[in-house]
Amino acid sequence: MLPVEDRDPADRPDERGLGPLGDNACQPRPFFPAPHQPDLDQLTPRQGLMDGPDDRRGEPVPADEDDRLEAVRRRPEPGAVGAGQLRHVGRWRTTRVRDTIRVVRIGISSLAILFLLDAVPSVAQTIAPGDTVATVITAASILEHTLALSDDSLQGRGPGSPGEKIAQRYLIREMESVGLEPGAGSDAWLQPFDLVRLTSSMPDSLRVTGGAGSLGLAYGTDWVAAAGRQAAHTAIEDAEIVFVGYGIVAPEEEWDDYKGADITGKILLFLNNDPAGDRFAGDTRLYYGRWTYKYEIAAEKGATGALVIHTTPSAGYPWQVVQSSFGGTEFELPAPPDEPRIDVRGWLTHEAASRLVELAGQDLDALEAAAQRSDFRPVPLEVTFDLAFTTELDTTPTANVIGRLPGSDPELRDTTVLYTAHYDHLGIGQAVEGDSIYNGARDNALGTATMLVIARALAELPERPSRSILFAAVGAEEQGLLGSEHLALHPPVPACDLVANLNLDGGSIFGRSDDVRQIGRGKSDLDDLLDRFATEQGRTVLPEEFPDRGYFYRSDQFNLAKVGVPALYLHTGVDIRGRSEGWGAAREEEWVETLYHQSSDEVTADWELGGQVEDAQLLFEVGHAVADAESPPAWRPSDEFAGIRAACE
Ligand SMILES: [Zn+2]
Repeated sequence: MLPVEDRDPADRPDERGLGPLGDNACQPRPFFPAPHQPDLDQLTPRQGLMDGPDDRRGEPVPADEDDRLEAVRRRPEPGAVGAGQLRHVGRWRTTRVRDTIRVVRIGISSLAILFLLDAVPSVAQTIAPGDTVATVITAASILEHTLALSDDSLQGRGPGSPGEKIAQRYLIREMESVGLEPGAGSDAWLQPFDLVRLTSSMPDSLRVTGGAGSLGLAYGTDWVAAAGRQAAHTAIEDAEIVFVGYGIVAPEEEWDDYKGADITGKILLFLNNDPAGDRFAGDTRLYYGRWTYKYEIAAEKGATGALVIHTTPSAGYPWQVVQSSFGGTEFELPAPPDEPRIDVRGWLTHEAASRLVELAGQDLDALEAAAQRSDFRPVPLEVTFDLAFTTELDTTPTANVIGRLPGSDPELRDTTVLYTAHYDHLGIGQAVEGDSIYNGARDNALGTATMLVIARALAELPERPSRSILFAAVGAEEQGLLGSEHLALHPPVPACDLVANLNLDGGSIFGRSDDVRQIGRGKSDLDDLLDRFATEQGRTVLPEEFPDRGYFYRSDQFNLAKVGVPALYLHTGVDIRGRSEGWGAAREEEWVETLYHQSSDEVTADWELGGQVEDAQLLFEVGHAVADAESPPAWRPSDEFAGIRAACE
């Protein structure tokens, strides 16, 4: 999950450190199973948590919506919750909830949680196609799964850890109880994949030589780098640097910075982001403007390495963020033998890049100006360097958990709607106030829980949807969206038959909102469906707050978009009903500062799930509509992903 604030190269900050800005790259977070960790049998199954009754549907909600709203507005003190409500919640849940509270040590009474379970409203009746949705998509049902998945016994769900295995077991059991069938292919729930950890040791100094002499660049101060290949040793000799401007190839924009130049074996020097002006969607960052794109296109072009020039405006964050979070330890899927790769991926400060191009008798400002134009051509700098480094490699097995609801229509059921939510989190890390378990309650037990509830609602509809629906709880998101990458590259059904992806990461915990925030608004006609159902809820869909930050490319749906699947990703609304203007945004900011990627991301008594219920209903409605629609959703014709989808025809 990404917060409102950004810290980009630390798209994968988690393994590197503690704070949102990443931390010391030399101290990766030890989420891999360590020898001292208890074994699986000791952790499972605690009676009442893992072996509860199968019927997990929420409790009936009060019929009158005004009553429900009133109940939320005037949430009584925990002590005021009466015995009637205890009975209403039920004995099993009471036991389990008490149990959970003891284990997660959230310091609130069980009555407070009971109240949370019981009194947050469902507004399902106003929009649901039937009673099914109203009784299934409730705050209680979402909270139950969230509590289970963020329980301390799951040890933060780090990839490859015993806690992750428990999470997988839980997800399979719940998917099974909903009536899904195994969705990973060959009758399997799990789609296993390996996670490769690379830790590179770069030299302290890089000597660069050009026509006007040579200079030494200090690691950290002037440049940072990471291995491009999964190899123990890398040696680059006498590599020549070529300035390629923004390095973009965008046929739909009639833009090609390479103009057929042979850059095989070169080190490419890139400007970050994309050309200024109205092209490339103006201030909205497209994938061409992401630094990851630069590395990918360099590999495709047969280059040996790529260096991105950092500036704070073009990146959206200061050099310190790059310095602290890039390089050091990285995670990847195993590289296929035939995949084009560069040897080294790095960043340079603007100041270091200026000095470097001066060695070639060039001026960086002039080069930058030339790169704004579509007639730009690559500029060989005749500046070279040698670079040798070692990389430690190790591999951890993990898996996606996938369930399938078969479609009812003999023809349409070969096409599939895909829900995704990452179930992994950071595992065990540095203790803060004695708590070393990074529970990831909001990130992303909540999104996973919500997907399970949506699955039940869709499975229990009186009429089974026409298309099939896959529910994928993906792993290793926190290491760089790797579970969804594996899923997109090895989908259980052909990618062209995946008609839409609806992704859940994080969710609303501050109450019902008037707004729905959509990341990547304007990219596909899924927007129209979203607008329709949001309007029925009396809510307004707004674009993301920071379009220049490229959030669409930084959550799991991006990997599906990359293989052509139109994708929908909502962010939490901040215009909270009954609160003063700015209250929601302030709470979000506070959450990011104090709880995001911290061991304190746990379920607490102040969670208000009314907004999450509405978001869940929205995602249910959109998914349901797509599953029953005659024709599948499409990218807007000018969208950067439209071409990939068009190749399906
Ligand atoms: Zn996260």
